[in-house]
Amino acid sequence: MFNYLSQYFKLFVFQMAVLKPENQSLKKSGKREDYLSWDEYFMATAILAAKRSKDPSTQVGACIVNDKKQIVGVGYNGMPRGCSDDEFPWGKGNADELKNKYYYVCHAEMNAILNKNSAGVENCRMYVALFPCNECAKFIIQSGIREIVYMSDKDHDKNRTIASKRMLDAAGVKYWPFTPQHKTIDIDFSKIDWNHMSQC
Ligand SMILES: [Zn+2]
Repeated sequence: MFNYLSQYFKLFVFQMAVLKPENQSLKKSGKREDYLSWDEYFMATAILAAKRSKDPSTQVGACIVNDKKQIVGVGYNGMPRGCSDDEFPWGKGNADELKNKYYYVCHAEMNAILNKNSAGVENCRMYVALFPCNECAKFIIQSGIREIVYMSDKDHDKNRTIASKRMLDAAGVKYWPFTPQHKTIDIDFSKIDWNHMSQC
């Protein structure tokens, strides 16, 4: 019994001496606890990009990330270069299809892929708020993106989404829904406390 207690005590002292200081030093690093997770950061980047969209009804952004967690492409839905936002139509209910947006607008996913700042986007992950349509699924598959993280699948019963999933499944592209832990992310330029900030 004494031996057992003695061993136990020795182990306890060992833990106090060796393990505890290390834990304490981690806790003492002083890092913030309320920081964004990687998934939140990339999804927020996609949604921030969407704020550039001129589409009055649908603002979508997409953010492509490589396996080093580096952002390699960002895009939002918009008219092709040279096709003026002020001249090409943003409507969607016209009987004349040429006066609707659909023939003209580049979707966020396509723009993010084409805007890439790396040689390629093979094996990357795409963050996009709305589940990609069939046309974007083709771009995603052909570009080599292997995973899609989305927030809403509201058009899941539409043929374009069914076709999209049929192709993504066949090509082995994974997709999963994401719910952020933070409900809001505030960026209030007027409230940044510059006086207490320094990086060096
Ligand atoms: Zn699309």
